[in-house]
Amino acid sequence: MDCDNQDWINIYQTFEKVWGYQEFRPPQKEVINCLLNGQDALIIMPTGGGKSICFQLPALLKKGLTIVISPLVALMENQVNELKSKQLPVELLHNEIPRQQRKKTLDKINKQQIRLLYLSPETLLSLPVWQLLIKPHIEINGLILDEAHCLVQWGETFRPSYSRLSAVREELLKHKPAQKIAIAAFTATADPKSQEIIKRSLQLKNPQIFSISPYRKNLNLAIKIAWTPRCRRHQLLNFIKQQQKQSGLVYIRSRKDSEKLSQWLQELNYKVAAYHAGLSPIQRREIEDKWLEDKLQFVVCTSAFGLGINKPDVRWIVHYQVPFLLSEYLQEIGRGGRDGKLAKTLTLISEPTGWLDSSDQQRNQYFLQQLQKNYQQAKQYLKQIPKQGNIMTLKEEIPKIEIILSLLHRWKKSRWTDPFNYELASNLSDLNISQITKKSQQESQQMKQYLMTRSCRWQYILNAFGFSKEAKNFQCGHCDNCLRK
Ligand SMILES: [Zn+2]
Repeated sequence: MDCDNQDWINIYQTFEKVWGYQEFRPPQKEVINCLLNGQDALIIMPTGGGKSICFQLPALLKKGLTIVISPLVALMENQVNELKSKQLPVELLHNEIPRQQRKKTLDKINKQQIRLLYLSPETLLSLPVWQLLIKPHIEINGLILDEAHCLVQWGETFRPSYSRLSAVREELLKHKPAQKIAIAAFTATADPKSQEIIKRSLQLKNPQIFSISPYRKNLNLAIKIAWTPRCRRHQLLNFIKQQQKQSGLVYIRSRKDSEKLSQWLQELNYKVAAYHAGLSPIQRREIEDKWLEDKLQFVVCTSAFGLGINKPDVRWIVHYQVPFLLSEYLQEIGRGGRDGKLAKTLTLISEPTGWLDSSDQQRNQYFLQQLQKNYQQAKQYLKQIPKQGNIMTLKEEIPKIEIILSLLHRWKKSRWTDPFNYELASNLSDLNISQITKKSQQESQQMKQYLMTRSCRWQYILNAFGFSKEAKNFQCGHCDNCLRK
């Protein structure tokens, strides 16, 4: 049932009172309507599109608690501080919060004084929090999953706890049978295949899908071949020089490479730092802050950088090395030009035969080998893992249990009967690792095709992300291929 006129008067009043706006941007109104009606939803909209209002506003208007699951503390802090400054009943939980404050928040939840609770999947599934949230008297109206692509991606951003979210709603409802809990997943990018993974991973029920075109008219796309490793460095340098002192990002795939390249650039007197998942949270925060304050002109980073960091005036993005998936690429270039002004992107690739420089191919191979190794390890462990069990008790014996089960879950070889207990599939013997690797390889084909295409790059992206209607005869006029014509 849709919201009626009286509902909308309320919605607009709250919107204006809390945020000071009078009009929604599409598809905010539609998403709010969907969430207020308690229907599941998958929302794909670029960052900066006013995503958080879509779930914050319904949470304030509904009775009970809305839980927001988010991968990063910084990401949550930004939103929570903003809402708290408006005196709204919002809290966040993570493991860096002092005990006293944590206790206070848990107490507020117990007394139902909070409307929005932000936490990471790991905190949600930590026993003290979980045992409180399942208490029947605590009314929960919805689960919001922010940055839902974490369910899909591998590499440095991989988080095994995400797979356990599939059983969260069902388990909560066992303890609160009369309540209605809707799930809404938000992500900046998801091609049709990723959408399927998200839907399945969260067990969404007839979700309404809201998808905004990924096309950005202020992002110029360009790919260049670097014939040798030396050549790659010089092309990067030339490009950076052309950007003068403007703020940017250089994406690279490995920790070691980010350190090496950043050191070389520092020696050339650039204000730059390396950033990867191997740094401590404090080190990371320090680099983020320096970059936000323009004390660093750019950062040489892995995919670990960027999530939740909002810098409007990023004028350029270089992919010094190519990401494995097109969706990662799209997410990473999406950090450019958030203020709506022009931003340039450049991707450097080795020549396609790999004859002079095989490093791109090697990196791809390495990624696949790692994946294969993980699965082989998982397969070996299978002999030790009981057919069903509780990961909290098994964790001591098999520290990697969560990762193994997450890998198996991805290929439908295990199931979470609740967020702590699993059951292995009966057809485990046909866990074919070479087939899985092959499938992953296919997923990376799209990225390769994108790099090689001679037609409009944005047209390729539109097609790849399910916007075939918009892609028909589309010419952006500002990508390298369009400009060449
Ligand atoms: Zn184009």
